[in-house]
Amino acid sequence: EGKLQLVQRHVRAFPDFPKKGILFRDICPILKSPAALTAVTDLFEEHVRSHQLQVDLIVGLDARGFLFGPLLAQRLGVGFVLVRKKGKLPGATVSVAYDLEYGSAEVEIQEDAVAPGQKVLIIDDLLATGGTLLAACELMKRQQADIQGCMVVIELRDLKGADRLKPHNIFSLLQY
Ligand code: 5GP
Repeated sequence: EGKLQLVQRHVRAFPDFPKKGILFRDICPILKSPAALTAVTDLFEEHVRSHQLQVDLIVGLDARGFLFGPLLAQRLGVGFVLVRKKGKLPGATVSVAYDLEYGSAEVEIQEDAVAPGQKVLIIDDLLATGGTLLAACELMKRQQADIQGCMVVIELRDLKGADRLKPHNIFSLLQY
């Protein structure tokens, strides 16, 4: 069995979660399997190395980006920075608001988290409409970071998030 098949076997689908009509992709089984979690990290690392991406920092999104990001950062020998939902980080922060299906949300980082010109790779578990990653990209732009791309375990193709994130590159392991 290949690494990708191993990862795919550890993603479950739950109909009508968190509300009717949504098919939720659950990545919890990946975390529960050391082999599957290693495979995700291997595949992310292989992408970075084969594309010769220059990375100073991995930036992870609240909350499931925190599960995969630090493992990759350790492999690459770089640091990890948290993009959190508003109100969770101490000290001076920078925030960006973005629209949700109903209402809006805000993400933020610590002001000193990323220095101007640093090369960042943004990571999350899943790309749907792209609103969340777009907000993270906006935060990075405010910090004058150099965005190398975004990485997710799963991309929901029909929602065209990758189009919204252009010109930034999206790398996904699994597409549905
Ligand atoms: P977007 O902003 O691209 O519409 O939604 C992506 C965000 O919502 C990600 O942070 C992701 O964790 C969460 N999300 C949306 N749908 C799903 C899903 O089906 N499964 C998982 N695991 N996360 C989802």
